[in-house]
Amino acid sequence: MRTSPFTEQHELLRASIRAFVEGELAPHAREWEDAGWIADWVWPRMGELGLLGLSVPTGWGGQGGDYWSTVVLAEELPRCGSGSLPMAIGVQTDMATPPILKFGTEQQKRDYLAPAMRGEKVASIGISEPDAGSDVRAIRTRARPDGDGWVIDGAKVYITNGVRADFVTMVVRTAEADRDDPWGGLSLFLVDADLPGFEVAEKLDKVGMRASDTALIHLDGVRVPGEALLGELHHGFKQIMWQLQGERLIGAIGGVASAQLALDGALAYVQGREAFGRTVADFQVTKHTLADLATRIASVRALVYEACDAWNQGRYDTERIATAKLMAAQLSFDAADTALQMHGGYGYSAEFDVERSWRDARLSRIGGGADEVQREIIAKHLGL
Ligand SMILES: Cc1cc2nc3c(=O)[nH]c(=O)nc-3n(C[C@H](O)[C@H](O)[C@H](O)COP(=O)(O)OP(=O)(O)OC[C@H]3O[C@@H](n4cnc5c(N)ncnc54)[C@H](O)[C@@H]3O)c2cc1C
Repeated sequence: MRTSPFTEQHELLRASIRAFVEGELAPHAREWEDAGWIADWVWPRMGELGLLGLSVPTGWGGQGGDYWSTVVLAEELPRCGSGSLPMAIGVQTDMATPPILKFGTEQQKRDYLAPAMRGEKVASIGISEPDAGSDVRAIRTRARPDGDGWVIDGAKVYITNGVRADFVTMVVRTAEADRDDPWGGLSLFLVDADLPGFEVAEKLDKVGMRASDTALIHLDGVRVPGEALLGELHHGFKQIMWQLQGERLIGAIGGVASAQLALDGALAYVQGREAFGRTVADFQVTKHTLADLATRIASVRALVYEACDAWNQGRYDTERIATAKLMAAQLSFDAADTALQMHGGYGYSAEFDVERSWRDARLSRIGGGADEVQREIIAKHLGL
């Protein structure tokens, strides 16, 4: 017998999210893609519906649900027809704000977490730099003590929501790493985007995820108060490695959901399209390709759910999350590629959503730790 982690309540939540996604988001997906901008109202609207804090305790204004509620949201959002929107919302709910809930002071939760959940503040996560992506230890953006605060200088690149962000949860160097603690010297800060010296230097152009705003941010003598430090001084590496587990998991859930949508789209298309006197679905190669894809989706989903189950219980295993992230990222791109191929020329046409899914899905193998980084983690667990 199949068991499902989802209760009746989760299914009710799923139905209401699906109605919202299909009724209020999907009609705008194309317009946002063309504009290179998701409408600003999405954040407060999702906040009003309680969708920006599904798994956050009610004491902080969240919905108090378990992690499976978050899984439901991540599985439903891709139905809006734009990969950009799940990414933008995922950054807000599962990348930039969880460190505030986990490491933040009461004041930081009041000032940043609560308004982010209401959709009044847009959040970004700032790890990557022009000269430091996969290698987080190479981060150069630096904060030096200045009276009772800090002054930050440096740059962050590829920052999702970065053009519209109200604040960035940022990894910053506060000391040199030393031989005894090679991972030391980094700290997390909550940096307001309206501070003098904080400049969105460029809105970056991209192959996919075009509706999502991606920024190059320059930080030139940005003075933040002492209270901007998030968590313990010099413990930022450990903290951001914890954050990345949630980031990879939410990406993996979305990757499987996107792959399922690609499969559903391909199934519908091949049954209607005719060639050589029969439907494309009648060719054995089509049936076997889609059967293989369905099999892969089922197995990767099981792997991802196993990691979700552990996360839901407050546990995580870095190697399992890396495995899930690696498998889901490759699956989502391969599924989009298979769907495009089965649509033939129409798949390559901007008239259909297939090409957009294909461009969007390519990012999953790079963002949040590229495939090669996940393999490094897995290899380390193999003792290599
Ligand atoms: C659209 C988009 C949105 C993004 N959003 C954010 C965001 O919101 N916040 C944020 O902080 N970052 C964000 N990123 C950045 C993203 O996380 C990085 O691009 C990613 O971590 C890879 O870093 P890099 O681009 O510097 O590549 P590099 O680290 O320079 O890697 C280049 C290549 O070398 C490989 N490589 C690196 N190290 C190893 C190794 N040890 N062994 C084998 N191969 C290796 C990589 O896998 C890759 O193939 C975003 C990126 C994009 C494109």
